[in-house]
Parts: sequence; C-alpha cells; structure tokens
Amino acid sequence: MKKVFIETYGCQMNEYDTEIVKTILQKQGYGFTDVPDDAQVIFLNTCSVRENAHKKVHNRLAALKHLKRKNNDLVMGVLGCMAQNLRKELLDEKVGVDIVAGPDAYKKLPEMLAKVEGTGEKDFYLTLSEFETYSDVFPTREGGVNAWLAVMRGCDNFCTFCVVPYTRGRERSRDPLNIVEEVKKLADKGFKQITLLGQNVNSYQYEKYDFADLIEMSAKVDGIERIRFTSPHPKDFPEKLLYLMAENEKVCKQIHLPLQAGNSRVLDMMNRTYTKEEFLKLAGHIRTIVLDIALSTDIIVGFPTETEEEFQDTLDVMKQVKFDSAFTFKYSERKQTIASRKFLDDVPEEEKASRITRTIELQRKHSLEQNQKHLGETFRVLVEGKSKKHDQQMGRNDGNKVVVFPNIGAEVGSFVDVKINTVSTNTLIGNTE
Ligand code: SF4
Repeated sequence: MKKVFIETYGCQMNEYDTEIVKTILQKQGYGFTDVPDDAQVIFLNTCSVRENAHKKVHNRLAALKHLKRKNNDLVMGVLGCMAQNLRKELLDEKVGVDIVAGPDAYKKLPEMLAKVEGTGEKDFYLTLSEFETYSDVFPTREGGVNAWLAVMRGCDNFCTFCVVPYTRGRERSRDPLNIVEEVKKLADKGFKQITLLGQNVNSYQYEKYDFADLIEMSAKVDGIERIRFTSPHPKDFPEKLLYLMAENEKVCKQIHLPLQAGNSRVLDMMNRTYTKEEFLKLAGHIRTIVLDIALSTDIIVGFPTETEEEFQDTLDVMKQVKFDSAFTFKYSERKQTIASRKFLDDVPEEEKASRITRTIELQRKHSLEQNQKHLGETFRVLVEGKSKKHDQQMGRNDGNKVVVFPNIGAEVGSFVDVKINTVSTNTLIGNTE
C-alpha cells in the first residue's frame, strides 16, 4: 500500500479539505503516515492569505527536497490556495513539485497521481468550479470533541486585500439535507460540537434555506450539544439569526466579527461595505439581543494610505466594542488582489510595527478586562483534555474561552461545571462544582 504524508497550513477550511483529500485517496487504496521519510507521496495543503504562509511552504519544500534525491519515485504535490495562486512558480524544475492542485481539484488527485507515477510527467489542475462542494465526500474522521464541517465554499465579496475569491472561486452552498446527514454521522461517532465553516459562512443560501435555517436544522440532531460557525461577514446578521442564537441553547454565544479597520474611508478602500458607525451599531445590536455574547475580531493595520489619525479609529472601535480576543495583522500585499493592482503599499514598515504593537497591547488589556468579568461565574465546560500542567484539565466554555480546572479525571467530550476564581489574558481558571 502506498503511503501519503499530508501537511496542512492555514485555516480550518484547509484542515477540512485535508480530511476530504484523505477520504478520496483512501477509497483508492492509499494509506497514510505521519513521517515524510516513510511516504511515497507528500502533499502540502497550502494557504495564500499571508506572506508568512508562502514562505513557510517554500522553506518546507526546500527541506523535503533531499527525500526526492533519495527516492526518485517520490511524488511531491502542492494543494490548496497557494497552488491556485502560484502554479508557474511551483512547477519550476528547481522546486521539485510534481502535482499542483487547486481547492476544487481534489477528486482528480487519484488520476493525477496515476499519471505522474506512470509517466513521470508533472501535472496540474486549477480550474475553479461554480458547483463543487464535495457534498458527496463525507470525510473519514476519528472520534473527537469538535468536528469542522464546510457548508459553503468560495467568496463573492472581493475585499480588496483578500486573495480568497481568486483562489477558492465563487460562493456556493451545500444542500442542507446533505449537511444534516453529515451532522448525524458525526453525532454517531461521538462528536459533541460542530463548527460550520465557510469563507463567508453566514451568507449561506441554498434554495429557500438561509444560514439560520441551516443552524436550526443542525441543532435538531441528537447528540450534538454545541454549534459554532466561522468566519462570518458583518453584513449578514439578520435579526432571525441573532434571535436564534439568543434562544437556542445549542448555538454558542460567540461571534467572530471581523472589523479589519476602524476608519470608514479605509473600510471603503477595503470594500468591506460597512462604515465605522454601522459596525459599532451592529456590535451594540448583537449585544442587546444575544446577552453575554463573546465577540472576537480580525484587524489589519497599515492598509495602503492609512494615516495615524485613521488608525486611531481602529483603536477607538476596539475601545468601544471591547472584543474578547482579536487576530491582528500588519497589511502585506497579496498577488492578484485588487489592492495589489490599485494601491501602493505605502505605510512604512516601522509604522506598521508601531501600530500592531499598540493594537496588541490594547487587545491584551481588553481581553483581561473581559475575562475579569467572569470571576465568580460558573461555566458549563466541554472537556478537551489535559492542560499543559499535568495536574490540570482544560476545555472551553460556550464563549470558546479556554477554561482550566484540576484534573478530576473527566472524560474528553463530557461536560463539567467550573466556577472561575482566577483569570489571565487568555485563560479562565477555576474549580469544578
Ligand atoms: S469576506 Fe472578504 S476577507 Fe473574507 S474571504 Fe471573502 S473576500 Fe476574503
């Protein structure tokens, strides 16, 4: 049996896609290994969202090249967004890659492998589909606590900094009945939590079914206790979805609400379709309907032409919303994006560095303040395993915060009630009740 080694970079959608690839290859008789030296096929499932991710993959390919020198029959492939974006560069003889396959090409992999193995010729497939959702491939998963589940693919928003619409194509949603069938299989395997995934997940629409309908249908599956979703866009939060989140106990009270920037002119350049005021109004509105909601966000500093004064608007929104957590990034130009074609990356590196430092410092302060509000509260915690300290266990509360408690031998996947007595920026610590 030929063995495949797959390494995954980037977002949860890529993790999910790796499961799809494994399922497709398994049906063709391939096995898997965690050790590249034991593999006859090596795939890197890549990400294009940040420059750093590109560098990591290039370094990894260079590091793996010695295996190719040892074994001429070894097949190396690059999958995912970077494949879609950088085909020519990757197929260069010096890089040593045999297969380049974009995110809609995974059903072709057995054919591509047969061709490379049979002829020694390189192969690539990068056509983006308007229809492929892999709804007929239920990923093979071992039991666990949380299962990622892609409900839609692609994105039509064309935020000017983002490469996703070019690497993953047009937005398309899966049939909800097919999704519910997958949720049932996950419940049968013992998963307690599902996270619905999509590049723009809350714009899900399949015939008459919208995203709120999909969540409601998934929540009816016995055995599934928690439902999360990521990543939404602030433009798609109708009242119906917010009231469902408020009223349905299985839907976690947590929203990732990507701000990106706080200044309306910069937001317009980013094509985010909301202003500073509209974002603040939405965050306030969410908090009045879904009480105790945990809000996280994404922030980019140093977008082209962003002035210091405009950056202050980002800090201002942060101060008004007080996010529980944030992913913060310095702007880096991505090939193919509208921003790379239209705007000059003109904010000096030292200025970007200063802005990100100030953003991180402010977020750390807010994260701690938000966590301090939980002192004395009791949370229902879904147990995930041991914490870094061996005499402790950890899990997550409804708001997706890490909760650490003494090792009481609680089973992974069970629920325990924990009363919080200590907090840090990233963690809640307490005792079981
Ligand atoms: S919503 Fe914007 S940032 Fe998100 S995937 Fe689509 S284009 Fe990219």
